[in-house]
Amino acid sequence: MTVSDHRFLHHAAPHIAGLSPYVPGKPVSELERELGITRSIKLASNENPLGCGAAAREAYQACIGDLGRYPDGGAYALRRAIAAHHDLDPARVTVGNGSNDVLDLVARAFLHPGQESVFSEHAFAVYPIATQAVGATARVAPAREHGHDLNALAALINERTRVVWVANPNNPTGTWLSADALREFIDGLPEHCLCVVDEAYFDYVTEPDYPDASAWLEDFPNLIVTRTFAKVHGLAALRVGYGLSHPHVAELLNRVRHPFNVSVPAQAAAIAALSDQQHVTRSIRHNRDEMAHITAGLSGLGLGWIPSVGNFVTVDLGRPAAAVDQALLREGVICRPVANYGLPNHLRITVGLAEENARLLDTLGAVLERPA
Ligand SMILES: *Cc1c(COP(=O)(O)O)cnc(C)c1O
Repeated sequence: MTVSDHRFLHHAAPHIAGLSPYVPGKPVSELERELGITRSIKLASNENPLGCGAAAREAYQACIGDLGRYPDGGAYALRRAIAAHHDLDPARVTVGNGSNDVLDLVARAFLHPGQESVFSEHAFAVYPIATQAVGATARVAPAREHGHDLNALAALINERTRVVWVANPNNPTGTWLSADALREFIDGLPEHCLCVVDEAYFDYVTEPDYPDASAWLEDFPNLIVTRTFAKVHGLAALRVGYGLSHPHVAELLNRVRHPFNVSVPAQAAAIAALSDQQHVTRSIRHNRDEMAHITAGLSGLGLGWIPSVGNFVTVDLGRPAAAVDQALLREGVICRPVANYGLPNHLRITVGLAEENARLLDTLGAVLERPA
């Protein structure tokens, strides 16, 4: 559909008419249907290639007998499990239909036209969408070595700023902020500016001075930490995540939350996943080993990549990534071009199973040998 034949565009709120939607990784089924191919692999959405653990799967399956009932709208058991996991009061927990939902709740509760949110160049694409969807203004700070430049972010904060979004680590760059730097940044914020620290990849990070921002909630009433079950827990299909904040912030987020935003099986599987440390450990180990294989393989192809602490790596192809991506798709390999993040020559690759990563490297090598 083109803009000119869009019948309803001029009826939409102006900030919605100007909004660019999120572009998700193509599902395997869609690519195969389009190209008439089989055996494709998806390394495009930072999913856990091992899937979820057995405990979460069993908890999910146990819900089948009673699908006629609405979920617990207050997510009592899940919020208690999350609170216990972080050693916090359940009143600090807001559950979401994925952590994306929590980011939207923050925007709906705290941003409106005339107000601003601040984030970094190359930051997660949901921040501008959540901001623009409520008619607020996005302010983008230049990145430094592909990562967040906290001084540049601080320089954009003014009396209209209500939210600063910080992804730690960031997607799609995999860059991260140290405890000292991030804490000092939050400490310097005015109280009217909430800081959302998005820790979607928290468990994957093994750097010693990488912070758990949830430990700072007592110190900073304007801090919101988000986590998800979609990444290391392998529950992306179920859509469940959460925010941790001051209880008064959580109370406001809960005012705009849909009462049944997390389904019965999602609540049950998430509770089980939280106590399945074995699966988390296995997933982290797999990621560490395979990240080493992929990055060594990329270097072997003569390619540079942005050092990443997540479960993905963004490689510099040294030429427009769109054509390379198309060629990879025709070979059944789905990665994520990140031109929409201001990185037109880069391709983001999710760490997959060993055989998937080997195939990615082989296919990428073959595609790059062809004349551009
Ligand atoms: C994947 C991701 C999320 C989580 O999304 P869900 O809605 O929980 O699936 C949040 N933030 C970042 C930076 C991500 O990459």
